[in-house]
Amino acid sequence: MTSVQYYNGQEFQNRAPMTQAEGFLLATAVSSAILSPLAYLHKPFLNQLRKEEPNNYIYKDALQKAVYVSGLHKEGVRVIPAQNLPGFNDYKLGYNACFIPKSKQVLINTDKISVAGFHELGHALNALKSKYGVKYLAKMRGPGYVLAGLMEYFAIFSRTKPKCAPRSFTDVIEDNCGKLAFFAMLPVVAEEAIASIRGVNLARDKKIDLPEPLIKNMKKLYAKALATYGGRAVLGGLAVYASRKVMDHFTRPKPVDYN
Ligand SMILES: [Zn+2]
Repeated sequence: MTSVQYYNGQEFQNRAPMTQAEGFLLATAVSSAILSPLAYLHKPFLNQLRKEEPNNYIYKDALQKAVYVSGLHKEGVRVIPAQNLPGFNDYKLGYNACFIPKSKQVLINTDKISVAGFHELGHALNALKSKYGVKYLAKMRGPGYVLAGLMEYFAIFSRTKPKCAPRSFTDVIEDNCGKLAFFAMLPVVAEEAIASIRGVNLARDKKIDLPEPLIKNMKKLYAKALATYGGRAVLGGLAVYASRKVMDHFTRPKPVDYN
């Protein structure tokens, strides 16, 4: 037997655990369906990355120069060739690169994807050599990811109160978790865009002397990378919103109709 609760003189029937479990399964399925196009957004980026490999020797030279031209070497920034590191990971295999603010290291397979290194130096410039606003954006990345991840959990909580019940702080977060998941990712997207712009500007520096066609390819690659971040923000927000709606439908206590 399912229990009941009352609000404003109206009787509400709580949903059976089985119904709530069905809601959870459907919400998870809907969420992963919405997120599935992300793989398609990532593919053009990886293809472009592979396409640039034959030019790597030019980018590699330029990247070494860029650390000095940007003045980042004075800040302690070092490019660490990930291909020489032990173990296996995306950095070593040349699928990804990163800037680690704490150690000021750019981790990158310089034998394959040096083209991505300029973007990572852009992150280093954001973190170490920028005005307050951009520095703040760089610092917001971590909390942004945490908040967006947290919203995925808020989305799949059962709704134990009727719709008309007074809202608590948690209810308000639950009601807006899709929007919050989206907005939490915006600092990440903005900081990524700024890192790319600064990376390309650095590559254009006369002292680095990277041929214009290669800079064009670099811009293409960075635009594709940004599309994956933008996609993650939009689809992530939508996935959270949709799973929240499904959970709402399956778990919220139903008004009892006496007629
Ligand atoms: Zn980045």
